[in-house]
This record gives sequence, C-alpha cells and structure tokens, in this order.
Amino acid sequence: MKNQYDVIIVGAGPAGIFTAIEMLRCGTKQSVLIIEKGKAIEKRTCPKHKLGKCINCKPCNITTGFSGAGAFSDGKLSLCEEVGGDLPSLIGAEYAKSMIDYTDGIYLEFGADPHVEGLEFNDEKKEIRRNAISAGLKLVDCPIRHLGTEKAQEIYYAIEQHLIKNGVEIVFNTECLDLVISEHEVCTGVIIKDKEGEKTISASTVVVATGRRGADWLEKRCQEHNIAHQPGTVDIGVRVEVRNEIMEKVNNVLYESKLIGHPAPFKNKVRTFCQNPGGFVSQENYDNDLAVVNGHSYKDMKSNNTNLAILVSHNFSEPFNQPIEYARKVGELTNMLGAGHILVQRFGDILDGKRTWQKELSESNVKPTLPDAVAGDITAAMPYRAMMNIINFIIAVDKVVPGFASYETLLYSPELKFYSNRVKMDESLTTSVKGLHCLGDSSGWTRGLMMASVMGVIMGRKIVEKEKA
Ligand SMILES: Cc1cc2nc3c(=O)[nH]c(=O)nc-3n(C[C@H](O)[C@H](O)[C@H](O)COP(=O)(O)OP(=O)(O)OC[C@H]3O[C@@H](n4cnc5c(N)ncnc54)[C@H](O)[C@@H]3O)c2cc1C
Repeated sequence: MKNQYDVIIVGAGPAGIFTAIEMLRCGTKQSVLIIEKGKAIEKRTCPKHKLGKCINCKPCNITTGFSGAGAFSDGKLSLCEEVGGDLPSLIGAEYAKSMIDYTDGIYLEFGADPHVEGLEFNDEKKEIRRNAISAGLKLVDCPIRHLGTEKAQEIYYAIEQHLIKNGVEIVFNTECLDLVISEHEVCTGVIIKDKEGEKTISASTVVVATGRRGADWLEKRCQEHNIAHQPGTVDIGVRVEVRNEIMEKVNNVLYESKLIGHPAPFKNKVRTFCQNPGGFVSQENYDNDLAVVNGHSYKDMKSNNTNLAILVSHNFSEPFNQPIEYARKVGELTNMLGAGHILVQRFGDILDGKRTWQKELSESNVKPTLPDAVAGDITAAMPYRAMMNIINFIIAVDKVVPGFASYETLLYSPELKFYSNRVKMDESLTTSVKGLHCLGDSSGWTRGLMMASVMGVIMGRKIVEKEKA
C-alpha cells in the first residue's frame, strides 16, 4: 500500500465495488485503493454452517468482506426504482430506472442468471392486487433477478478478480478509523488501521461506502467533522416465517410480494421486505455484540418455509433525533431477553398475551429454520407502537395471503435496519465537504443491492467525468 492515491474507496460492498467497476469501464487512469475491514470473498466463511451456532466473529463474516452484506445475501436484485431506497428522489426516477437497467447488464456480464422473476402471470397478479386493495395495502410490482446465495458469491468473486487484474488495489482486514478533513472543509484522505498499526493515506477523492454496519460510524464522522446530514428513518420490525404452502401463490406469481400499508391506529408506514421463498432465517452480529435477525435463500437448497421482514419506519425530530440509538436499545433489550440469541414467538401467543415455550415450537407445521433462536416473548421488548403496527399489518396481509396470520406463524426479533443517518448530497453525490462522497446504505440513500450498486456506478462515472474534464 502506498501513502497516496487519486481515489480511496472505504468499504468493498456493492456501492464501493461498482464505483471501481464503472471507473474502469469509463477508462480511468487514476490510482484506486479500496479499504475493507473484512476478508476477500474467497476467505469469507460463517462458522455457524459447521458449528450450528453463531460464535460472534469479529468482524462478522456475514456482513463484512468483499461484496459486503451482499455476499451471503440471497442476491435478489430489484429491477424497479420504487424499491431499494430514496435515491430516485435525489437523481430522478427516470434516470434511476435507466441506471438500474445498465447496472443489471453488468451483473449479467459477470454471470447472473438471465431469468427474471415476476414478469408473467398477469391475471394472478391482478387478483393479488385486488385483494391487497381491499386490505388497504399497496402492492409494488417489482421484477426480480435472483442471484441466489451461492451464485452471488461466484459473481462477486469474478468481480473481485476483475478489479485486481485491472489495477485496483484492495486491502482487506484494514479498518478506516477516521477521515482527514482540513479546516477548509476539504477531505484529503483517511486514517486506517491494519496489522502494522495506524497510518494516514492521502487522496483527492474519498468515497465512503461502509454499509448498514458502518452507518453509525459514518454518523459519528458526520457529527465530528460537520459533514451536513440529517436524521433519517430507522426500521424496526420482525422476521416472519410461515410454511411455503401459505405463500405458494405470491411466491410463484411475484417471487417477492412487496406490500406497503399504514395500519390503524398509528398510520405509520409498514412494509414487507426481503422475502425468501424456501429460505432460511439467519443471524448477523454487529461489532458491539448486537444480534439481529435476517433471512436469505439459496438457489438450489430449499427449506419448507418462506421468511420475510415486516418493518415499521420510525422518524424522530426533537428533542430526540438519534434513530440508530433508539433501534439499538430495542435490539439490546430483545437480545437480553433471549440471553444473546434471537427471540422467536408464535403470532397466536402474541395475540393471547403469552410467551412461546420451546416445546410448543415443535407442535406446529412450521419448524424454525434458525435452530438457535430462543422461544420467548418479543412483546416484552418491542415498543407498543411498533408491535401494534406489526400485528395490524399481519392481519391485513392475511387478506392477501390467507393463513399468514395463523396461530403458528413465527415472528423473530429484533429485525433492525440501520441506515437512518442521511448524508446531505447534491445530484453529483458530493457532500458538504469537498472531495468527500458517501454512497450506499451508510449514506442513508439506499437499502438494497441494486440501488447501492447503481449509486456506485453513478459515482464512478462522475469521478471519471471530472478526471477527463
Ligand atoms: C443476510 C442479508 C440478506 C440480504 N438480502 C438482500 C437481497 O436479497 N436483496 C437486496 O437488495 N438486498 C439484500 N440485503 C441488503 C444488501 O446486502 C445491502 O443493501 C447492500 O449490500 C448495501 O451495499 P453497501 O455497499 O451500501 O454496503 P455493504 O454491502 O454493507 O458493504 C459495506 C462494506 O464496508 C465495510 N466497512 C464498514 N465499515 C468499514 C470501515 N470503517 N473500514 C473499512 N471497511 C468498512 C464492511 O465490511 C462492508 O464490507 C441483504 C442483507 C443481508 C445482511
């Protein structure tokens, strides 16, 4: 590693790596360094597959390393601009759609499956939408390219090799500790820590793309360095698991049923997210030992269950404006009740006001696909408002997916999405600090693989446009 580069990218998730890919495609001559605190993709393994339980790796192999949280995700690329965050409000919906198509083309070049889910079955789609309307829900009809967890890893490995072969330097197991920002509000580099210690690396362009798990790190940098930002939305919710038979119709017709509602009495936005037909509920750990639930699905290995997140959006203004902190407290309380494990409870038990006992889980048709989840009472940790939103939303979804609100339906908690700090930027993705750009989930503008990748592509183009100007 040298002491100076033209461009430093912090974080090798989709946002960071697509910045580098597009720079190469646009013929850049600039030197590029990617700093990643996790491992190369071929070295990322989750010991839980062998040991059957999470041993709390630091950093967590599921969410850090080349391709970021994307590597072990089941790689559902949402091919419409209505899904994946608020980037279209910054760059325009039409431009966002054209960039999705362009970025999708890059995924195809690196080996993505040409099949797109959700383009057929128009009559069935109409019926699902009719039921959604009568339940007071909006159905977002978004085609999906499903990479699958194993395939996603192959694609990202091909991308990693492509970048290295074309001169992009990537340093793994290296953490960015801070940004170097002059008193004139110009970013001139970063301070990093690797096995040799701390050092400062200079660059005229710094791109921060540290993902959800780097969102609070970036929020702190924004506060310390006066980088213009505002509190965004934080999502708190549960991961729901039902038998595939319950979800069969929407799984076949849409693959992913993206439903949005504003249930009474609070009328907050509640939505489904990240649906995994035949999938597995999973756990990810944050550096401060916070265990949160997630879900994924493999292209070939299938379970008998479908899981999806139900997320409730939370906004705060004053006197309290730290949504990440709020969500963290909810997560910590839930973890405490589960003795450090993910909590699981049957929907019927929630309505009956009782906890779920471990032995009761085996009485149901649906068997948990997260074996080390602990049966208990998620309502003891979930704020009343969020819980009521979730209960009433599940009851509404039952009108679209009969059986969804069954007694045995499993709710895992905490499901938290930490992308709440929103960095203020202009259309060219420049922050209030010269030379500093913030991308992807940590910037608060994206919430998914495709949008994070798109933001990277736009960034790559902007950097090369400036280089050639
Ligand atoms: C289990 C799971 C399943 C998912 N499934 C889907 C899905 O099917 N479809 C979908 O659209 N989205 C899915 N997502 C979300 C998706 O993975 C993210 O939205 C996407 O990866 C965001 O990209 P990003 O580049 O912004 O951040 P990330 O992918 O999170 O990458 C950020 C990178 O920055 C690194 N980093 C953080 N801080 C530092 C630091 N200080 N120094 C150096 N490096 C740092 C991290 O190690 C990480 O590699 C899933 C996420 C998970 C966890």
